[in-house]
Amino acid sequence: MTEAVIKKENCRLCNSENMLLVVNINPSPIADAYVKKEQLNETQDLYPLDLYLCKECGHIQNAYVVNPDLLFRDYTFFTSNFKGLVEHFKIYADDITSSFDFKEGNLAVEIGSNDGTFLLNLKEKGMKVLGVDPAIDAVNLANERGAKTLPDYFTDDMAQKIVAENGKAALVIANNVFAHSDNLIDIISGIEKLLDKDGIFIFEVSYLADIVDRFLFDTVYHEHVSYHSINPLQKAFARKGLEIFDIIRNKSKGGSIRCFVKRTSSEKHTTQPVVQEYIQNEIQRGLDKKELFLKYNDDILQKKKEVLTLIDQLLAEGKKIVGYGASTTVTTLMWHFELTERLMFLVDDNKIKQYLFSPNNHLEVLPSSELVNRNIDYVVIMAWNYAEPIMANNKAFADKGGKFIIPLPELKVI
Ligand SMILES: [Zn+2]
Repeated sequence: MTEAVIKKENCRLCNSENMLLVVNINPSPIADAYVKKEQLNETQDLYPLDLYLCKECGHIQNAYVVNPDLLFRDYTFFTSNFKGLVEHFKIYADDITSSFDFKEGNLAVEIGSNDGTFLLNLKEKGMKVLGVDPAIDAVNLANERGAKTLPDYFTDDMAQKIVAENGKAALVIANNVFAHSDNLIDIISGIEKLLDKDGIFIFEVSYLADIVDRFLFDTVYHEHVSYHSINPLQKAFARKGLEIFDIIRNKSKGGSIRCFVKRTSSEKHTTQPVVQEYIQNEIQRGLDKKELFLKYNDDILQKKKEVLTLIDQLLAEGKKIVGYGASTTVTTLMWHFELTERLMFLVDDNKIKQYLFSPNNHLEVLPSSELVNRNIDYVVIMAWNYAEPIMANNKAFADKGGKFIIPLPELKVI
């Protein structure tokens, strides 16, 4: 069996060994490894989550890499199950096919294509589509639905194989893969081989500046190994003869960027001023410097102290406190803020998560009706990005005197 976790010594974007630890985040179990009752005797290890800054190119990343087979091969996430995502990808496909004049039969390759939801939109518009994804069940579903998909990781070698069998691609897409993949240099190299002369590569990832400004440190978990900003990415693309020529900001996952990449030599697409504006802004605010992250680290610890002081005082008064949310970000927040022993159980409205147990510390996940049934005094909204809808959906709890604790970005009790 391959090792569960390895320590990476080199930067994921530029291969430099000049890496500095800048943000300490407590070790946690694999964030989405919620278990069934019959698995409660299985141990779930904790793995480091610290963030490192590459002093060479400014890329922020996790140094510890959990074996991707443990994270992605049995991935039970199907895009088509999430109405919001299905809609997002339909609009996304409409946007890019109306912005660029792809021809009937042009090849579109998606890296990390899951169950083919996005590719099927492109196929409908007349493109020839091919997906690549390691998650076996999602790949089977994609192939059944008519989006041809290879069950593997995308690499430089695979790109060459795809070109030999299908020719070059007019469009390569990667959504979130750029945050998930350990071998970014190899992937970028493969993308360069795959793109035709004027082909474009489009990817969407969370934006580092939003992660910092909006305290989204709980989006740091083991599936996520890179936290991107434009400056280090542009340098990595340049080394392969590619460049980001346009950027669109959106609100997905609390703040994301959609980047458009072309060959530097291609004159078909014009580089937009917005790219240089992003880079200037990042340099100006020090998004590639240790000082900004050391302060970020301190700010997070200060917020943690405020939350723990409040919760410990309430516990001392004998209050019953639970957590709201059973997602990946909740795992990071629970471990980093040391709430693992302080919450009685979790509640979540997602039926798939109900009656499962949180990774490692095994808090049971119950329906939110249990807040009232069990006379809970306080619920910490762990999924704090959704505080508004959660409070709106739980008026019955508030009407009975229950209180909500919103831990971030500012601690509030409502
Ligand atoms: Zn680097």
